[in-house]
Formats: sequence, C-alpha cells, structure tokens
Amino acid sequence: MTCEQIQEKLPAYQDGELSAENEKAIKTHLDVCEVCRKEEKLLSESWEMLGDLKSIEPSPNFEARFWARVRQEESKQTGWRSLLPAALGLAGMAAVWVIGVTGGFLLFENHNRKEVALINPSSVVTSPYPPNSIEQIFMKNQTSLKRERI
Ligand SMILES: [Zn+2]
Repeated sequence: MTCEQIQEKLPAYQDGELSAENEKAIKTHLDVCEVCRKEEKLLSESWEMLGDLKSIEPSPNFEARFWARVRQEESKQTGWRSLLPAALGLAGMAAVWVIGVTGGFLLFENHNRKEVALINPSSVVTSPYPPNSIEQIFMKNQTSLKRERI
C-alpha cells in the first residue's frame, strides 16, 4: 500500500473497522513510515479534541429554545408592525425638529426687529462702552424703559 492509501484508511484503522489483514499491513507501515505515523498521531489527537467538545452537553431544551429565539429575532426584524413604532418615533422627532427650527428662526427674527427698534442713535453715539457690549445693551434697555415711562 502507498502512503496515500494508508492515510485514507487511518480513520477506519483507529476505529478498528479494518480486516485483520489490512490492520496488520498498516501497523507494519506505521512502524517504518514516519510521515504516516505523524498523520496517525494528528488524527487521534483531533479525535481526542472532538471527544472533549462532545463532553460539554447542552441542556436538553437548548435546541428548542435556541430556534424559538431565532424565530423571535427574525419576526422582530422582518415584521413591518415592529417597524411602526420606530417610524412614528422618527416622524415625531422630525416634527419636533421642524417646529424647533421654525420657532427658533421666528424668535430670532423678532429679536432682531426688537434690537433695531431699541437702538437710540444718541445713546449709540454717546455710549462710553464698546458697541454691543453687555453694558451698552443694558444702557439701551434703560433708555428704552425711560422712554416707555415718558
Ligand atoms: Zn507512509
């Protein structure tokens, strides 16, 4: 037998499924062939590793629970009904954003108009404070309040 043929039969050899004649032939080959001996060792080691994995037994209902969970997740992802709350939430957020921006814009507009109305040319010229400083704005408010009282 060639090395290739030997290695093909190694799993059956390890499981003791070969005829006595074949088993003996492989045994004698393994004694003289290092390549096939290594292959045999590798094979038995991987079976041992698989054996260790098999010894970790999942709980009896594990598979049923696993698939139930998978179906649950799938229906979550594909059901349009489940998308509705998210869509409504997004629409609500968009509406709030539009109202906020529009309202803010209108407020800003009004604010600017008020500022223009409050500017008293004489106070701007005579003010000792730099333009648009807190002090000047305060002074402007003071003079406009005075004007309202008169
Ligand atoms: Zn060989």
